Amino acid sequence: METRDAYAELGLHPSATDAQLKASWRRLVAAWHPDRNAAPDAGSRMQAINKAYQHIRQLRDGDDPDAVDEDSAAPAPATESAQADAPSNTHIRKVQLSLEDAILGCTRTLSGHFTHVCSACLGKGQGVLAKACSTCHGSGAVHRPALFGWMWNQEECSDCGGDGRLRAPCDACDGRGEQSVPYRRRVRFPSGMREGHVLSVPASRHGAVDLGLELQVEIEPHPFFRLDGDGVLRCEMPVNGYAWMAGRWVEVPTPDGLQQMRLNRDALVYRLAGQGFPAAPRGARGDYMVKVVPVFPAEDDPAQKALLDQLIASSSKAAAADAEQPIGQWQRNLKRWNAGHKKSNRDE
Ligand SMILES: [Zn+2]
Ligand SMILES: [Zn+2]
Repeated sequence: METRDAYAELGLHPSATDAQLKASWRRLVAAWHPDRNAAPDAGSRMQAINKAYQHIRQLRDGDDPDAVDEDSAAPAPATESAQADAPSNTHIRKVQLSLEDAILGCTRTLSGHFTHVCSACLGKGQGVLAKACSTCHGSGAVHRPALFGWMWNQEECSDCGGDGRLRAPCDACDGRGEQSVPYRRRVRFPSGMREGHVLSVPASRHGAVDLGLELQVEIEPHPFFRLDGDGVLRCEMPVNGYAWMAGRWVEVPTPDGLQQMRLNRDALVYRLAGQGFPAAPRGARGDYMVKVVPVFPAEDDPAQKALLDQLIASSSKAAAADAEQPIGQWQRNLKRWNAGHKKSNRDE
């Protein structure tokens, strides 16, 4: 159910206070309950009213209502109960998964409370006793002095609503009009669930209600992994520049744990096939791309500088000696050109 539809169902603006929300819901429940309303669509209206109220309550009671992305929430699944007398309800809530759990799938035990209309008082918060109203003594009307004190106006008794019967707070809900049932479910999340995906869990009995769950997935930020818009899992990691040049092995984090990967000085991006995010829920895993950022030590370290000088000297000598290699060729051409250049200067 869309949030704006829920407010419309209750005849409210989203800025309505919690008290206005509750008052409107109670008024509608009292008007549309099939026990009191003979209209053929009373049952379906009642369901819609309760669904709208539960939707808004859950958004308002949630840990972080501002984070709710209304567009990503799938419409509530049909969870009509086979048993006519057992109300079927759907509890909407968010579940945070780590990126690893989202990739590999996981099992979570979810517990919480689900608030629903009190079945004893139908949300009115009070019951009718088989006694006369103490305010109007059963007449259903009260008299109020009018203008001159010797005239009396007769008004409907507000305590009993005019039927003359005594009210008492509902025992079942302590007068709150709603009841809360605790629930605890073990839920299997398949691999490949993404931010905004919704997992619908079929209804099961909790206390007096059949309760289904609609779980909106949120993916926790990860220190290493990033899932890009194309669904490709990526990681960027610094590596020792010399180890990169030397083609050494490094440990890389993968969704399945640490793994050895061999660096190659001709490559900055490495594809780990089949180790990324599933293309679809329960689907085959895509590729995981690791980008390495070679990091070299500060240039002014004297010990490093001496070692680099040695390295440059020995490699230059070897490269210059081999005329087939680019540096050897280059140096030969450079020498020839330089000699010709000097000669032409002299001739002028
Ligand atoms: Zn009640
Ligand atoms: Zn009364």
